[in-house]
Amino acid sequence: MNDVSDGETLEIICPACETATSKTVAWLKKHDRIKCRCGAVVPLTPHTFDHEIAKTSRAVDTLRRAIDKAAPH
Ligand SMILES: [Zn+2]
Repeated sequence: MNDVSDGETLEIICPACETATSKTVAWLKKHDRIKCRCGAVVPLTPHTFDHEIAKTSRAVDTLRRAIDKAAPH
């Protein structure tokens, strides 16, 4: 199933070094964490993209739903 937002790019800010890493929504849906180039592993949560809401709310909403479904409750 393809969503129109899959090709959009979001930035993940590393909490350790504050480097922004850009990934597509399609990539982010398939992973639950990213590894920063500083070596820190950043888990993806619905709050990881809070800073992106103003820019791409549709992509963020799509991704949050995907993360919510994947997350154990
Ligand atoms: Zn980092």
